[in-house]
Amino acid sequence: MIKTLDTVWENCLQIIQKHVNQQSFRTWFAPIRPVRLEHNVLTIQVPSQFFYEWLEEHYVGLLGKTIRQELGPGARLEYQIVVDRSSGDGDDKPYTIKMPTSSNAAVPQAMKESANNAAPIKNPFIIPGIKNINIESQLNLKYTFDNFVEGECNQLARSAGIAVANRPGGTSFNPLVLYGGVGLGKTHLAHAIGNHVKDTWRDKTVLCVSSEKFTNQFIDAVKDGSITEFMNFYRLIDVLIVDDIQFFANKDRTQDIFFHTFNHLHQAGKQIILTCDRPPKDLEGMEERLLSRFKWGLTADLHVPDYETRIAILEKKLYGEGIEISREIVDYLAYHINTNVRELEGALISLMAQSSLSRKEIDLQLAKQIVKTFINNISNEISVDFIQKVVSEYFEIPIEMLKGKTRKRQVVQARQISMYFAKKFTENSLKVIGKHFGGRDHSTVIHACQAVLNLMETDKHFQEDVLELQKQIKMSL
Ligand code: ADP
Ligand code: MG
Repeated sequence: MIKTLDTVWENCLQIIQKHVNQQSFRTWFAPIRPVRLEHNVLTIQVPSQFFYEWLEEHYVGLLGKTIRQELGPGARLEYQIVVDRSSGDGDDKPYTIKMPTSSNAAVPQAMKESANNAAPIKNPFIIPGIKNINIESQLNLKYTFDNFVEGECNQLARSAGIAVANRPGGTSFNPLVLYGGVGLGKTHLAHAIGNHVKDTWRDKTVLCVSSEKFTNQFIDAVKDGSITEFMNFYRLIDVLIVDDIQFFANKDRTQDIFFHTFNHLHQAGKQIILTCDRPPKDLEGMEERLLSRFKWGLTADLHVPDYETRIAILEKKLYGEGIEISREIVDYLAYHINTNVRELEGALISLMAQSSLSRKEIDLQLAKQIVKTFINNISNEISVDFIQKVVSEYFEIPIEMLKGKTRKRQVVQARQISMYFAKKFTENSLKVIGKHFGGRDHSTVIHACQAVLNLMETDKHFQEDVLELQKQIKMSL
């Protein structure tokens, strides 16, 4: 059967979809147009230079492999980029230019290191018991301590990670167990340790494996009767990183083999680093003796970063990408995307992609659109309740006190500021605003607004507080 361009690309998309998450798929693959198929050379058209570079940097291995899977080993990929023509001669039709790709090499390097782990791990079983073999560490080189932003949310985990990286196996943090919710930096930190060790000691063997992969390798070893070789292989490792150990749950035989591997390495003074999506004590379906081993070292947790840390993370990423966007937009993203770092990154990437696709500058308007697709609960109207909440959090004064009768200076000022913002940012009448503050009358609200304006002129600290609060409130618009 002759393969047509459209069916080939359709099949490729189906393969790709299995290897990337939905968000990435929609952002990076859906907009691609297949344009030509000639003698096993597939040409795809991408919307911009940035798009092309992103694909080459992040997905070149996946694309190459997919195309070879679909069209055979000799298959090759070519890009066309749509280029804007702003020559002003009336013919502003975009034209395309041809770009090279590194995916046409037989086994692309990027494939081996790609985060989606599409390539099988180098078969460990063919090299039992040989020292000094070249074991691929499976580390992602882009995860380093340098680009891991420190914050209160990760202080313990990060310092412990640095200590372990400087003296693998030589601290009491063995094993080092890093736990925390999804997207909070467990994998990043674990790889940073591995990368640091590898940079410092060339002769140390570092290996990073997900618990899923470890399980599959073990199953294969059982199938072909090479359990001893499997175990021997793992005993060669100086720094073993096992990512997401929650997947060991209820896999008794794998846990058993891992238990023995753990003991062997630990006794030999080798370093073990584990990551987990919850505290180990909450792991169900895990053997007690394994859990008790985890307690031998240090268990450190990662939390959701606070607002300032989120800003620092965004700025670091932007710097890394060589992109400049205004502080206002950074603040906006950091303020609204407060779940985890992966989402924060996702929003930033979408923003860059969108701006590249639509050839628009990244502005606040675009940022707002993107953020909306990430979270649905942004209100565009500010309520008195909301203002009270922001002010009460800012001054650490309970909302009831804002509505209450206290005459303490601090409380009175916070109350007056809330009223001032209620007048400034909502459509409510003075009377309604007064009601929100324990049934005060409209003249109290007028007085409050005047008092705030007066104090802003005379008290610098007060003015700073009001401006900061104003920024926070405006951000939710
Ligand atoms: P987890 O393994 O906990 O699910 P990851 O380590 O994969 O999370 O982190 C998700 C993304 O967020 C990665 O791209 C990572 O680089 C980034 N990230 C997480 N924490 C930080 C941090 N403190 N500084 C910089 N980037 C971070
Ligand atoms: Mg992870």
